[in-house]
Amino acid sequence: TTPLNAADPELADAIAREIRRQQDQVELIASENIVSRAVLEAQGSPLTNKYAEGYPGKRYYGGCEFVDIAEELAISRARALFDCAYANVQPNSGSQANQAVFLALLKPGDKILGMDLSAGGHLTHGARPNLSGKWFEAHAYGVRESDALIDYDALRETARQVRPQMIIAGGSAYPRVIDFKAFREIADEVGAYLLVDMAHFAGLVAGGAYPSPLPHAHVCTTTTHKTLRGPRGGMIVSNDPDLGKKFNSAVFPGLQGGPLMHVIAAKAVAFGEALRPEFKAYARQVIENCKAMAGALSEAGFDLVSGGTDSHLALVDLRPKSLTGDISEAALERAHITCNKNGVPFDPAKPTVTSGLRIGAPAGTTRGFGAAEFRRVGEMMAEVLDALAANREGDAAVEARVREEVVALCARFPIYPELG
Ligand code: PLP
Repeated sequence: TTPLNAADPELADAIAREIRRQQDQVELIASENIVSRAVLEAQGSPLTNKYAEGYPGKRYYGGCEFVDIAEELAISRARALFDCAYANVQPNSGSQANQAVFLALLKPGDKILGMDLSAGGHLTHGARPNLSGKWFEAHAYGVRESDALIDYDALRETARQVRPQMIIAGGSAYPRVIDFKAFREIADEVGAYLLVDMAHFAGLVAGGAYPSPLPHAHVCTTTTHKTLRGPRGGMIVSNDPDLGKKFNSAVFPGLQGGPLMHVIAAKAVAFGEALRPEFKAYARQVIENCKAMAGALSEAGFDLVSGGTDSHLALVDLRPKSLTGDISEAALERAHITCNKNGVPFDPAKPTVTSGLRIGAPAGTTRGFGAAEFRRVGEMMAEVLDALAANREGDAAVEARVREEVVALCARFPIYPELG
């Protein structure tokens, strides 16, 4: 028995069941991944006990000499990963990293121009219910209806009209490569800062499989837990050390108090892993796998937003099959394939229903799936969804058969075998 089992069996049981869930299902949520045991160990360490307000060498508490080592390792590895002059590894989340950049560079009422939520942008890029939409005058750009790609001419036009203080590139459901150079040219033309939120594809950038925004952006933010495969958290990177001073003050004392030193230690471990040659192979494989899965769906008659993917994620448009995202997500979950319903550009359905599914390859690739396995996952998804289109309650026999195959597939590529 473990200390947690002994102290709190109820909670220990919830964790055990969650571990089993992760072991026995194919994780296609594009923003999730499977961290190493080393990352888990660092995050579960007694560094959680330590207050360390401030930055390495300039703390407001005693006893920081060892957590300073952890944070310095995280910073230097982050700078090496993204080949940049500055990194702040303290933001507790991707949202807080974005808020820190806003606090550093904007005033309430300033104009921001971000990708529309319905086109694949993120809440923190100016959505109405978010702080970014309440405290700033938020404007949005979208994608072209004909091909679902960012319309750079329309973006330039909107930027000229709005004259925002900041343009935000990046999103949560855009499957294609973003032209960061074009974004920077537009930002320069209207005198705006360019923030690239690379949360989704940071791991692909780190692995050299997706273009780096660093040469073009004034600043980049990211989460550390998606393709980058670290602990849940955020980070700010930039090539401008003067802006860096402003971001440091914005994170602490502007927004946060004591940083999560155990999480920062785990970030250091994950960045160390991402610096190894195997991570380059991983990043390339993620994209190849995503293409294989998307290709299988496409061959089965499913529509892909923008016709395919260049990244770790794809967006399935379910309308040609007369399905919606909500019931499709639920049917796939019954078959142990986990993904999320997602709006497609110009979606006529409500956000709680949606016409799409977002699928991603980062987690499955980590557990060792190759293109053949991902192709089969795409085929199994099609089997479940075609059966659902024929019977909107779902076909229990098809779902059970796929579930059995998924569990067997997962058993061939085990995760956390020592954890039960
Ligand atoms: N930015 C983008 C592009 C995201 O996709 C996300 C999370 O989904 C975030 C920011 C927010 O990250 P967090 O959930 O850590 O606040």
